[in-house]
Amino acid sequence: HRAQDSLAQAGQDYEKSVTASVGRLAQEIKTAKDIDSLKINVLEHIRALRDGIRTRRAQERELLSQTRSELENVRQTLTATRRQMLAVEKESEKYSQAALTDTLTKVWNKRALSQRLHELFAETRDKPLSLIFFDIDRFKQINDTYGHQAGDRALRAIAEQASKSLRQKDTLYRYAGDEFVIVLEETDINNAIEVAERVRKAAEGIKFTYRGQQEMTITVSMGVSQAKDKDTPEELLERADQALYQAKEAGRNRVMAG
Ligand code: GH3
Ligand code: MG
Repeated sequence: HRAQDSLAQAGQDYEKSVTASVGRLAQEIKTAKDIDSLKINVLEHIRALRDGIRTRRAQERELLSQTRSELENVRQTLTATRRQMLAVEKESEKYSQAALTDTLTKVWNKRALSQRLHELFAETRDKPLSLIFFDIDRFKQINDTYGHQAGDRALRAIAEQASKSLRQKDTLYRYAGDEFVIVLEETDINNAIEVAERVRKAAEGIKFTYRGQQEMTITVSMGVSQAKDKDTPEELLERADQALYQAKEAGRNRVMAG
């Protein structure tokens, strides 16, 4: 900026000197005694003006190139800032993603479920919405027989298998312990029961072995519910949970509708 200020000052000085020079020239023309000395004077004035113009042009070129390089600096700073902002955004996205993911199974967690359900219930619904609540049968036995790590592996296996047997628009959440929830948008209870059956069979099909021990079968019990007009997310969950309880009571490894 200092360079620009001094150039601006030079511009003003230049204008003043041109005005003064033209004023002197006019004076000399008025008071000239003979034509020859006037010619010399006029030529000198013209040369001085031409030199002034050249100097001024050089100054302006200098100003232009300085402005260009300053502009380039600003552009580079802007690019760097934009890159930094993107990095920060990505990082914070990673954190918020982590806050909604279950660390053991890598599926969405209970907080994510609560968020999604509240979003879905805030919208006016013109399509059916269903929910599956499922729970691993006799999961404690796996922990008790093979240890907690075997239990963890079983949880991961179930989550992976369930995810694989879902449709694009169905979402799996780990609710707590050995309980999972599937949210099925644009799906009525009959279709939700079909999905539940598919997931139940997929779980049953897992060949689970732990440290060379005997192969074991893992089964799940499931409750299905469909959202009613004046439901809250809690009521929808509650009905699926009750249906799940009935599935347990009726002998486990089955799907019940609430
Ligand atoms: P039910 O068929 O009635 O569901 O029997 P269950 O044994 O599965 O029932 P319960 O809900 O009593 O057992 C769930 C067990 O899951 C109890 C708890 O120790 C275990 N558990 C909860 N979270 C984890 C976990 O992250 N890892 C492992 N390995 N076990 C867990
Ligand atoms: Mg259980």
